[in-house]
Amino acid sequence: MYDLKNWGVSLEDIPPEGLKVEFENISDLGKELNIKEPFSGYFKLKKLGIEVKLEGFLKGVVILECDRCLSPYEFPIEHTFKLNILPLASLNIEEEKELSEEEMEVSFYENSWISFFELLKEEIFLSLPYKKLCQPDCKGLCPVCGTNLNKNVCKCKSYKKDSPFAILKELFSDKKI
Ligand SMILES: [Zn+2]
Ligand SMILES: [Zn+2]
Repeated sequence: MYDLKNWGVSLEDIPPEGLKVEFENISDLGKELNIKEPFSGYFKLKKLGIEVKLEGFLKGVVILECDRCLSPYEFPIEHTFKLNILPLASLNIEEEKELSEEEMEVSFYENSWISFFELLKEEIFLSLPYKKLCQPDCKGLCPVCGTNLNKNVCKCKSYKKDSPFAILKELFSDKKI
């Protein structure tokens, strides 16, 4: 397979009628993304002066780690997006402000090169949940013994309902100070 990092298009190679790039079977986007089912989708690009309008779609499955129980779980992604891609050189503070006010999704290109590799990674990260949970009611790990409470019950369970100090009390009474 070709080197994904060099996957992209030069501005001058986008014809006036626009360009559609389809992709499939992308399973390696670097260490930050654990891909379970390879990504497929498309980018549609249209040039408007120095600006490029992009519409895209991507689909795949990644493996995330649950914030509560730290177990890996599968997270399917189906994501459509629209972007305005501007030359990085055009970026100044005033414009940035204007853009964020309009809440447009904006990306930038450098040296007339649009990197599909970076775009794809960016859009996958944008479609990940803010809170990563293996299931909505994940019980998490026991704060005392570390047992995964989705799978097992531990003896410390009763303390969970009490204040976190209950266990301290118990420890102290054991010592019989
Ligand atoms: Zn979990
Ligand atoms: Zn426990």
